[in-house]
Amino acid sequence: MAKLYVKKGRANPLWHGHPWLYSGAIEREEGSYQPGDAVDVVDHQGRLIGRGFANPRSQIRVRLVTLRDEAVDAALIARRIEEAKGLRLRLGLPSSETDAYRLVNSEGDALPGLVVDVYGDVCAVQFTALGMKLMEMAVYDALQAALSPRAIVEVAAGGFAQLEGFGSATRVVRGEPELGAVRCRENGIILEVEPLGGQKTGMFIDQRENRRRVMGLARGARMLDLYTYAGGFALAALKGGAVSATCVDSSARALQRAKQHAELNALGPLETHEADAFRYLETAAPRSFDLVIVDPPKFARARKDLDAALKGYQRLNALAINACESGALMATCSCSQLVDAEMFERVIAGAAKDSGRRVQLLDTASQGPDHPVPPAFPEGRYLKFVLCRVV
Ligand code: SAH
Repeated sequence: MAKLYVKKGRANPLWHGHPWLYSGAIEREEGSYQPGDAVDVVDHQGRLIGRGFANPRSQIRVRLVTLRDEAVDAALIARRIEEAKGLRLRLGLPSSETDAYRLVNSEGDALPGLVVDVYGDVCAVQFTALGMKLMEMAVYDALQAALSPRAIVEVAAGGFAQLEGFGSATRVVRGEPELGAVRCRENGIILEVEPLGGQKTGMFIDQRENRRRVMGLARGARMLDLYTYAGGFALAALKGGAVSATCVDSSARALQRAKQHAELNALGPLETHEADAFRYLETAAPRSFDLVIVDPPKFARARKDLDAALKGYQRLNALAINACESGALMATCSCSQLVDAEMFERVIAGAAKDSGRRVQLLDTASQGPDHPVPPAFPEGRYLKFVLCRVV
């Protein structure tokens, strides 16, 4: 097996559990390997740090799979998937209320480059590293053994696949090829998810615990759900006793799904607006909502976009604050990994200033516990959820 030596002074994050070896931290390489092969990562004295998937095309040269001298093979994948399932069972997933959850969260489950979301009796799988993609049959076999799903879907990895140098397409890899909408539940709400045609792997599972929080804060509220997708927060609020939900999204297809979800669960009234959220807010009546959710897509994709992203978040939040009735609750989110919690709180302070309102910060949260991350890997904790009151 090839050995990659880490430069003196650069091994510390790896020893602490950061799972990526960057190309710039490599001192020298010994032996040869093919893209996607497992290689050993050793410190400058040759001590084994770990073993993982190598990809010479990527700045992230190695993604560590194990810290031990053990084979990176189908048996290891199967063990890790069983272990991931054990964690979810320990967390009460699935339950009678919720059977949509993340079974495998890449580095957080020591399966780098693999995400598996479970929707009822269907698994949706996404590969983001070549080494893992090359082991896809082992992944499917292990999922079959662990969960006996009705179908397994591979969801195309888009940009990741291109960066890592493999092809991927959205399709059923095991089970019924013509898989339609899959029925599942979240916090007692029935959902219909389309792994073959939705966004992400079908839905945004990472916000489940935050939707539950919102459910507990909604009684009597006129609620506004900006970037609603299939109505996630709006349905939770209605179930929690909101008197109305106004849903805004730029995707007509997502809004249609939100409407169907409201009907399916006998929840309402739910109104939809197909619009850019900024444009909607610019014309919305001021102070007309008691509960406002702001959950936009990632604004900062690369470091060079950071300034523009922060300005965008600030403007969006100022507009959202304007829509808040005095005393309203506002939950505002960012899923940009490059915007950390401190930056995001500064953005909210700036938005309060711009809108001339006083804002109280009440609570903060991140993604749910079925999205574990290594403690030395802050990159994995991308979701910020900040609950405020607007006076
Ligand atoms: N809150 C949702 C997840 C939101 S994901 C949930 O709980 O499931 C982000 C959503 O923003 C997507 O549905 C996408 O269609 C929508 N979107 C992207 N750009 C938008 C824009 N400019 N205006 C409004 N919606 C937008």
